[in-house]
Amino acid sequence: MENTDLSGKRNDKLSNKLPSAESPYVLQDLKLKAPKKWAAGVPAVIHSLDQLVLNASVLRGGRALFSMNQFDGFDCPSCAWPDPDDERSRVAEYCENGAKALAEETTSKKIGEEFFRENSVYDLAKLTDFEISQLGRISEPMYLAEGATHYQPINWDFAFEKISEKLNSLDSPNDAIFYTSGRTSNEATWVYQLFGREFGTNNFPDCSNMCHETSGYALSRSIGFGKGTVKLEDFYDTDIIMIIGQNPGTNSPRMLSALTKGKKNGAKIIAVNPLPEAGLKGFKNPQNVKALLSKPFELSDLYLPVKINGDMALLKALQILLLEEEDKNPGTVLDHEFIADKTGGFEELVRELKLYDLKFLATECGISIEILRETAKMIASKKRMIVCWGMGITQQQNGVEMIYNIVNILLMKGSLGIAGGGACPVRGHSNVQGNRTLLINHHPTKEQLDKLEEYYGFEVPREGGYDVVNALKAMHQGKVKFMFCMGGNFLSAAPDTAFTAEAMRKLEMSVMVSVKLNRNHLIHGREALILPVITRSEKDIVNGQLQHISTENSMGVVEWSRGVLEPISEQLINETHVACRMAKSVLGNRSVVNWDKFINSYDAVRHDIAQCIPGFENYNEKVVQKGGFYLPNKPRDGIFNSEHYPGRASFNVTAVPDNSLADDEYLMGTTRTHDQFNTVIYGLDDRYRGIFNERRVIMMNEYDIEKAGLKEGDKVDLFNYDDDIERIAPLFIVVKYPIPQKSTMTYFPETNVLVSINNTVNGANMPASKYVRIKIRKHSPDIFNKIDDHVVAATGTRRQ
Ligand code: SF4
Repeated sequence: MENTDLSGKRNDKLSNKLPSAESPYVLQDLKLKAPKKWAAGVPAVIHSLDQLVLNASVLRGGRALFSMNQFDGFDCPSCAWPDPDDERSRVAEYCENGAKALAEETTSKKIGEEFFRENSVYDLAKLTDFEISQLGRISEPMYLAEGATHYQPINWDFAFEKISEKLNSLDSPNDAIFYTSGRTSNEATWVYQLFGREFGTNNFPDCSNMCHETSGYALSRSIGFGKGTVKLEDFYDTDIIMIIGQNPGTNSPRMLSALTKGKKNGAKIIAVNPLPEAGLKGFKNPQNVKALLSKPFELSDLYLPVKINGDMALLKALQILLLEEEDKNPGTVLDHEFIADKTGGFEELVRELKLYDLKFLATECGISIEILRETAKMIASKKRMIVCWGMGITQQQNGVEMIYNIVNILLMKGSLGIAGGGACPVRGHSNVQGNRTLLINHHPTKEQLDKLEEYYGFEVPREGGYDVVNALKAMHQGKVKFMFCMGGNFLSAAPDTAFTAEAMRKLEMSVMVSVKLNRNHLIHGREALILPVITRSEKDIVNGQLQHISTENSMGVVEWSRGVLEPISEQLINETHVACRMAKSVLGNRSVVNWDKFINSYDAVRHDIAQCIPGFENYNEKVVQKGGFYLPNKPRDGIFNSEHYPGRASFNVTAVPDNSLADDEYLMGTTRTHDQFNTVIYGLDDRYRGIFNERRVIMMNEYDIEKAGLKEGDKVDLFNYDDDIERIAPLFIVVKYPIPQKSTMTYFPETNVLVSINNTVNGANMPASKYVRIKIRKHSPDIFNKIDDHVVAATGTRRQ
């Protein structure tokens, strides 16, 4: 690695600072308690309020809370769980994590010229992610010149000129990439992709490439549609809800209300997860005073503590057992009519399943045959079945195949395309699904591109673009010179932190549209820009008119969103304007698009979307209806179209992977704490798991700890050897946890450093961040001699 300082400036003294024998990481005073047996309740209310105080946002944030997720308010900036279609509580239509996300963005703390004058990029990189998140909102556009050590304030015209100069100097439009984070509104998304395509590239990597690309890939090939098939109301009246590799208590907490309602109406809940998450066990609804004062409501009827990556074996075993049940009671388990009329590939599947030995599958998944039988019996006679999944599935190397097996089960039972049944990938980011619907896509279809070309009249690029992993590789090879990020914290979200940091530093220019400072502003290209924008909770006033934006939730509902707070600084603009002004500046007279029309009113943006994207007809009228509108969803209506069986859904035959491990090897998954939303760290606690005040921990099975000659509280270093490269995550604390043997869990993004850029999901090319082979060794202070200063800065737990 080049001997440059953290602002990209050559610095021959740097090598004297680190590595050293002294730890660059300072561990906090870890506190452990027993994991919680239920989620939410009074503590959730208290912690929601705590965040408002911590972020100096009691007045602003408190006021905004009453408008969040209301019919006439704004959409929660956190996860993508849907709001009820008909009735919403006027007081609290949000959860603890929605409140935390809001407190974070409504903070009254600001940073601008003075702050950046006093703090160099180098010094800021020493802070932890939590400390960085507490600094406050960025209040004006900032620029880091080549070789400079400090960001300096600039005006918007200067910012767009800089971008224009750089983009117009590139040899090819494909030397630039345009990343999108899932918070970007539909309106901003549309103009942003339109600009990129008129500029000449399909390089649109997005956060979907790191979370649910796997779901889209598997579902579009097996049922002909890359999204889930259920509505919220399906949860209320169903027989079985199976939750695999998903932690709703932390990542989409209001899902617990839907589960409660479903269970009260008679549904059985089956939870499959290596960790016994509190939100899978019990729930005290904080929106209901009676529930708050009562015993927690028990959620799961069956909990299956599957090994990491054991889901494939488990799903296969269930299919075999369902066939057995059908043999015992013909006509009661399988939906033969549905299989015959709507699917293909069933005979091949049955032939393949016969090759497996149940004992082998039970060993591979870590669940006894008795419990597997009990599970199969529970679902055998039930047709109305919903299967939900999260990144515990999508971030496995064989995540696509796992989803094929989930679909196999739903198809066997005819559970797709019926009320109370279906597939439910639970998206984590509030508009990640809307971004993809509106063509933030590195491989759009020919029909989508034809429509754009026909409507706007410019020649659209046809060559496929880079997804996240391929963008990183191209950046690393120096093929990509410019990166624009519409939101997000790309560096921290991406895998293989050392590789990613090197890739970022090779850029000629990095531009980040942001609300608050994050680590990607500190690990940057040779020149860097930060473009601060208003948030969803703030009023977006254009030509004196309050504008509304819109978003699509996890169940395909598009609804408007209108902020209520005054923006924190007069210098902030909205994301739609950023994209349009960039387009005007970069493309000038060669553009055939009327960007001013979009700048002057978002109705004009929605008008164009309505002309180009099926399902958005009369967008402007429909989006202001109470609760918005549903996008078309053919599988929901029982219409399928798979890759191998046109006009039908397909069963798929897949293999069970070889997960054998050496004695000193373990499988590691990465997860998030309860004080975290994606890369944003709200605090150092993981309340439900009983882990407080420290994030550098590794959860291990008691037996594994003893066998490795360790004990709880020991300090260890973690290693990965994929691609014959030694990747090191130093100084973690061993925590004894009820997790299957040989499975371990650590927090994202601290251990992203161990996830090889080549460890990806087959087909979907997503980082397989929940399937990482690691070794664990007692901590050695000498380990820091092997850790590069840039890696420490990029992982962000260095203090002086
Ligand atoms: S469930 Fe998700 S969308 Fe709803 S309030 Fe909580 S974080 Fe926001």
